[in-house]
Amino acid sequence: MEGFIYFDHAATTPLDPRVFAAMRQFLSERFGNPSSLHWAGREAREAVENARRQTAALLHADPDEIVFTASGTEADNMALAGVIERYGWRDCHVISSKIEHPAVLETCRYLKLRGADITFLGVGADGIVDPSALKNALRRNTRLVSIMAANNVVGTVQPIDELGRITRAHGALFHTDAVQAAGKVPFDVREQAIDLLSISAHKLHGPKGVGALFVRRGVELEPLIHGGGQERGLRSATENVAGIVGLGMAAEIARQELDEEAERLIRLRDRIIRGVAERLPHAYLIGHARRRLPGHVCLGFEGQEGEAIRLLLALDDAGVAVSSGSACSAHRAGEPSSVLLAMGFDPIRARGSLRVTLGRFNTEQEVNRFLEVLPPAVAALRPVTSRGFGAASLT
Ligand code: PLP
Repeated sequence: MEGFIYFDHAATTPLDPRVFAAMRQFLSERFGNPSSLHWAGREAREAVENARRQTAALLHADPDEIVFTASGTEADNMALAGVIERYGWRDCHVISSKIEHPAVLETCRYLKLRGADITFLGVGADGIVDPSALKNALRRNTRLVSIMAANNVVGTVQPIDELGRITRAHGALFHTDAVQAAGKVPFDVREQAIDLLSISAHKLHGPKGVGALFVRRGVELEPLIHGGGQERGLRSATENVAGIVGLGMAAEIARQELDEEAERLIRLRDRIIRGVAERLPHAYLIGHARRRLPGHVCLGFEGQEGEAIRLLLALDDAGVAVSSGSACSAHRAGEPSSVLLAMGFDPIRARGSLRVTLGRFNTEQEVNRFLEVLPPAVAALRPVTSRGFGAASLT
């Protein structure tokens, strides 16, 4: 919308017009069911298989290692519950982290209810999982390790290569929730010790309600959805052809433009970080300064942490959409963020982050405008807390 600035791409992204163009015909005249043997079915099947090749190429996987799902959440559920269901609930240990998205955290809680033993690894003040903590947590019966590739709240990128190698050396399977990372940081599952990887189309300028799980050849999963046997029996249901075509096109564009786009977003991101530091000396950056997603900034304002929601609403009044955490927890606005608590923030500071996440269509002019409207919005807030904390100041 004219005059409005969208800086909340970690919540969702606008559909790329090229993705929409590819999807459109599968919402109208090309309506076939991919399981039908006639021309209409064959046309739909071809489109689904083309999208599978495009999605696989983003990860350097083989097409038959891609299972389409109805969301990133479903891909996470399928990875965790599918493995444990296959290998047994009893005498089974799973390792994850305290900063995972609820799609993983809540699935772990479900596994625990069913009898699995779960360890949630902590993170440092920089929001990074320490690989030696994983080494120490591994047990004889550890079947699966699930650590996200990049965090949705603070944007930190985890040392996935090392965590995967440690897990593989132990003989367990490694899953990573790459919903925030895919299309923004490169993946090569031929080189990386990743057995299962979740993605979601709507985080990479594709449509909502479609995702995929990479399942390394040889890894066995028990299906969670039973029925007609689509997706090699792993995920029954008539395929969401238009959505899958959208995911494929979004993956293809992201792969082709990844390096250039990452460079551009890093420039804009660092312009925000520097610009905020110059204008607001009490601002601090949350999460590791460099090991973070290209377009992701997470900020705190010393002494004003309890005012995050008011700041978000003031920016909204100025036409700028940002977030105070993750969209999924908007209904719990004002509660401390479990991610910030895990990073060692006290409960008051943990209520106060401002998440600014950039995407493909953002411009330098929009960043400049944001840097104009932020200082008066922050100045209008009450100072409600003040205490020393070791978070890095931006200056
Ligand atoms: N995992 C992470 C890290 C996310 O950020 C999200 C969405 O915010 C999900 C999983 C869930 O993906 P979806 O919205 O496709 O269910």
